[in-house]
Amino acid sequence: MTAAAHCIFCDLIQGAAEVSICYEDAEAIAFMDIQPVNPGHVLVVHRHHYEGLHDLPRDLGMHLLEVAMRLASVVKTATECPGMNMVVNSGAAAGQDVFHYHVHLIPRREGDGFDIPLPFPGSEMPDRTLLDAMAARIIAVLRDPMRDPAPRPAPAVSR
Ligand code: 5GP
Ligand code: ZN
Repeated sequence: MTAAAHCIFCDLIQGAAEVSICYEDAEAIAFMDIQPVNPGHVLVVHRHHYEGLHDLPRDLGMHLLEVAMRLASVVKTATECPGMNMVVNSGAAAGQDVFHYHVHLIPRREGDGFDIPLPFPGSEMPDRTLLDAMAARIIAVLRDPMRDPAPRPAPAVSR
């Protein structure tokens, strides 16, 4: 966890700017996105500043996911939207704009104009040997005991 030079989400969490909170607990806060794809677009964040998937402790990430899972059905009921995207953008190359890790819950309707175009148009299925080679590479990294000897514990919460 590194201190951000300036982080709008830290400002919101510390009460320094207006925010519409729909859920909070000791670790997590969820609030309404100010530029929603559809009404009910929620962001789930940790109270402490973590930038992305690379520095978020695994247990905190699991908690944010659990909160997002709980809220997904609640938001669906509240908005009566038939669909939902749960999205994480981690890193500028992945489209992250606010560098305080967050999970988007985006209620979706047919024809709302938003799109996560998968399968990726224009991407052709690689040769099976390339898919197998990449799978083997991932398995090798997973099995490397020096890579991630233990899940990173979350720091004690001080307040
Ligand atoms: P990202 O592109 O980082 O995944 O998404 C950042 C999200 O934060 C965007 O959907 C954007 O609308 C939202 N956002 C940016 N600034 C604020 C703000 O000041 N308040 C709230 N509630 N949401 C914000
Ligand atoms: Zn922050």
